[in-house]
Amino acid sequence: MNITPITSYKEPGTPSSTVIAYAVQCDKCYKWRTLATEEHFEEIRRNLTGDPFVCDKLPGITCENPADINYDSSQVWAIDKPDIPKTPKGFKRIATLRGDYTKTDVKYLTPDGKHIRTSPQMVEYLKRQPAYSDLSLSDFCFTAPKIMSDTVPKHYKNLASSTKKKPKLK
Ligand SMILES: [Zn+2]
Repeated sequence: MNITPITSYKEPGTPSSTVIAYAVQCDKCYKWRTLATEEHFEEIRRNLTGDPFVCDKLPGITCENPADINYDSSQVWAIDKPDIPKTPKGFKRIATLRGDYTKTDVKYLTPDGKHIRTSPQMVEYLKRQPAYSDLSLSDFCFTAPKIMSDTVPKHYKNLASSTKKKPKLK
């Protein structure tokens, strides 16, 4: 198994919930390590394919240390795609989990407080902001983290699957 960076979510009582922890999986021992800051998580994620994460990259940690967090259904997990560009300074990338657990959404909060949800919106925004002329769409990624359905509480899983088409029989 080689799951790439993850964001995990608490069971929401509210319509949608946000990330409560950032973790990455070691490419050697497959243990999960939590990261104290989103910035650190983004640093690792931005070049995960070219420079896979290993425990030794964290100060004082080796593969011998017990895992910080275990992949299980005590939290809902969502996996971000690897190699997402690091969020430009002043911007914030926000991933939220929908209340029905079907999907996550990604938006960017701009330095002047605007919420941008799609690539065309971002192109428009950057066009109007000469201060960010060095930025382009390739500095952003709207691909939402994929919810790991085996970590979704059963009740919600049933709801989600009842609205989907039945899988094809082999
Ligand atoms: Zn390790």
